[in-house]
Amino acid sequence: MTVFSVDKSSVLIFLIVLLVSYGGWKTRNLSFSGALSALIMGCIIGYVYGWNGLLLLGAFFLSSSIWSKLFTGSKAEIEGRLAKSSVRDWQQVWANGGPAALFIILYHFTGSEWWLYSFAAAIAAANSDTWASEIGPLNRKSPLSIRSFKRVKKGTSGAVSLLGTVAALAGSIFISFIFLTLHDPFQWPLFILISSAGFLGNVFDTVAGAYWQEEFICPVCSSSTEAYIHCGVPAVKSKGFSWMNNECVNFLSSFLAGAAVLLFIPG
Ligand SMILES: [Zn+2]
Repeated sequence: MTVFSVDKSSVLIFLIVLLVSYGGWKTRNLSFSGALSALIMGCIIGYVYGWNGLLLLGAFFLSSSIWSKLFTGSKAEIEGRLAKSSVRDWQQVWANGGPAALFIILYHFTGSEWWLYSFAAAIAAANSDTWASEIGPLNRKSPLSIRSFKRVKKGTSGAVSLLGTVAALAGSIFISFIFLTLHDPFQWPLFILISSAGFLGNVFDTVAGAYWQEEFICPVCSSSTEAYIHCGVPAVKSKGFSWMNNECVNFLSSFLAGAAVLLFIPG
C-alpha cells in the first residue's frame, strides 16, 4: 500500500530544485530564508508544470543572478539607496515568484491553459523588472524621474533610462520566448501577448515606484533611500504609503501582468 506515488522524474526535479536552492545560498544570491522559499516555490512549479516550469524559473533565476554579479563596480553606488542587498531573502523571493506560484496552482486545479499564460506573464514581469534594475544603472546618463522629469540618482525607483527600458523589454521577451518554445506549437499571438503583459508589469512597477512606493531621507547624509535605517540612524519618510515597499510593488506588478493576460480570453 502506498500513500502517494512518486515517479523518478519527480524525484529528479526535487533534487535539482534542492541543488539550485542550495547553490543560490552558497553563492550568496539567496539568504537561508530565500533559499528555503526558492525550494518550496520550485517544488510547487516543478510538481505542476514539470521540466518546462523549472526551465522557465531557472532562466529567470540564473539570468538575474548573472546580471547581479556582473558589473558590480558600477553598481556599488546604488546599493546604499536600496533597502536590501543583492542577497535575496524570503520576502524578495515571494515578491518575485509568488504570483507565478499562485497562477500555476490555479492551473493545476482548473486545467485551463490561460492560467499557464498568466504564470508565464508573471515570470516575464519579474524578469523584466530584475533585468531593468540590474542593467539600467549601467546607462551612462542618470535616469529621468517620471514624476518630476528631472534627472535623479541611479537606482531611484520610478526613474527610467534608455538602457533600463531596453533591458525591461528584452527581459520580458526572453521569458516569453522560452515559454512558447517549450509550449509546442509556438504561437505568435501568445508570444506578443505574454511579452507585452510582462513589459506592462514593469511599467506599473515604475509608476508605482514614482508615486506610491515609500521613500525616506537620511538625516545624516541627506540622501534619499528606500531603507528604514541609513548611516546607522532611522531615516525620515519623504513620500509614499507605508505598506508600499519594493517587495509589495514587485508582487503587484507581477500579479497584474498575469491578470492582464486573462483579459484576452476569447468569448
Ligand atoms: Zn545616510
